[in-house]
Amino acid sequence: MARLVFEDVTKRFDDVVAVDRFNLTINEGEFVALVGPSGCGKTTSLRMLAGLEPISDGAVHVGATNVTRLAARDRNLAMVFQSYALYPHLTAAENIGFALTLKKMSKSEISARVQQAAERMGIAHLLHRRPKELSGGQRQRVAVARCIVREPAAFLFDEPLSNLDAKLRGTARIEITRLQKALGITTLYVTHDQVEAMTMADRIVIMEGGRIRQIGAPMELYNNPCDLFVATFLGSPAMNVLSGALVRGATGAFFSAGPVSVALPDSVECAAGPATLGLRPEQIRARQADAAGDLNLPALVVHVEKLGAETLVQLEVEGLPGLELTARLAGTPALARGDHCSFSVPGSALYLFDSAGRTIPIRRAAPAASALPALSAVS
Ligand code: ATP
Repeated sequence: MARLVFEDVTKRFDDVVAVDRFNLTINEGEFVALVGPSGCGKTTSLRMLAGLEPISDGAVHVGATNVTRLAARDRNLAMVFQSYALYPHLTAAENIGFALTLKKMSKSEISARVQQAAERMGIAHLLHRRPKELSGGQRQRVAVARCIVREPAAFLFDEPLSNLDAKLRGTARIEITRLQKALGITTLYVTHDQVEAMTMADRIVIMEGGRIRQIGAPMELYNNPCDLFVATFLGSPAMNVLSGALVRGATGAFFSAGPVSVALPDSVECAAGPATLGLRPEQIRARQADAAGDLNLPALVVHVEKLGAETLVQLEVEGLPGLELTARLAGTPALARGDHCSFSVPGSALYLFDSAGRTIPIRRAAPAASALPALSAVS
């Protein structure tokens, strides 16, 4: 395993700046996910590290080596593509051992390594099959086994789960994360799926428009997003947002949007003006506010989705027609379409953003506990 470093890396395609001064160090054994909307530069960044795309400016390092000018095959990086890129005319065993054959390793050594990797991926019984005789999930395992046998300096994954159905994706997420931890191999993982990034990575890099927006551990980003983009990108259902204004009056600062108003702590440092309030769906409670500083939301229930363990409720806040919020409530509360109810959000769980979308720190304490019940450990 090796440390991976992007040093001020820029990629231009004619007049398009696909990646703009990208700086990132991935520590030995670390799993970093690169996430962001389509076209933000994720794949281009990965391909520049892999040696599949020339760099316009900057440098990339694998361990102590500056590999910027090395050919892809000399970088000792193993890559799993979205398409898996398996050779259709070779069996699974031949696909897995292909790179070892190129290295002129002995047949017995190749066979032993292929067998070991296939057992690890649970595909030892499929080694004689060609890719077209394998399911999507099995092909994905062959592609990962092909990486493992090479004992590379790092794994590079480019949307490796996109072609799997939702259930298989869930299983494969866990398998890849456990494998990466067991092998301790430095990993860069590109995905547009924030759930994959949140659940698999040690750290997440959020990109937008070719630039890094924020880097951090998943829950650090979730709880302390630097701006509205990051706040609304992470989380499913996404954070609710209310456009309004920060007002400073004789009694202190407050946020106001039509009839909705909430007092802010005196410590809020921001000039009065347009602002946005952010509310995570799981922080909305189906009851009146408990304390001063909490946000009260009298609302009409417009849709209810009972999912068993939790219920998603669409609300229309009274006095703010056209604005729908999503609440994520534990269990199956007795709510139905057409009900008029009191909802609230604790003051400590509110997010505030200025007119440029930057986070204004207002949180009074550590992030409030989710309204959903905590999981208890099974002894
Ligand atoms: P997706 O999730 O859709 O794969 P991405 O975040 O991986 O997107 P990239 O594929 O890295 O994005 O593309 C970044 C930008 O560079 C986009 O604007 C894209 O159109 C542009 N781009 C990528 N490859 C080329 C190319 N070969 N020629 C010109 N422009 C390109």
